[in-house]
Amino acid sequence: MMVVSHVVLGASAWVAAGSLGLMPKSGAEGAVIAALGALLPDLDHPSSWLGRRLWVIAKPLSLLVGHRGITHSLLAMAAGVALLTALRPAPGLARLIEPLALGYLSHIAADALTPAGVPLLWPWRQRFGLGLCATGGAVEMLVVAACAAATFWLKMN
Ligand SMILES: [Zn+2]
Repeated sequence: MMVVSHVVLGASAWVAAGSLGLMPKSGAEGAVIAALGALLPDLDHPSSWLGRRLWVIAKPLSLLVGHRGITHSLLAMAAGVALLTALRPAPGLARLIEPLALGYLSHIAADALTPAGVPLLWPWRQRFGLGLCATGGAVEMLVVAACAAATFWLKMN
């Protein structure tokens, strides 16, 4: 999916989860952090939006693990949450872990809609994908718009 799609879906996931009582409700801060989390998995791709800005990390990471490898798995998300939690951040920073993780998860779910899929259960190499929409295609725009509209409806009701 395109970067703007990941940003919208990550922020929407956080707002929707808060509206449904699955996550604490927060202001714009949580949505922004979730959107940032939704960009993180593509750090394994030097041409991605984040990879171009953090190429010092993206280039070696790409050589080491390739695109849509471990960074697009539940293991990576769990390891990231465990690492951040183990660092025992101050309470002000600790509350950012949930939106960051949910945004990360939204990225994996969104990429699972594409034909290439994701290795959700890495190191098992099986890829999971619905093949619903190609990156940048009209269906992707429809899915993103529908999710944003549903989130807006949830927030207002
Ligand atoms: Zn991705």
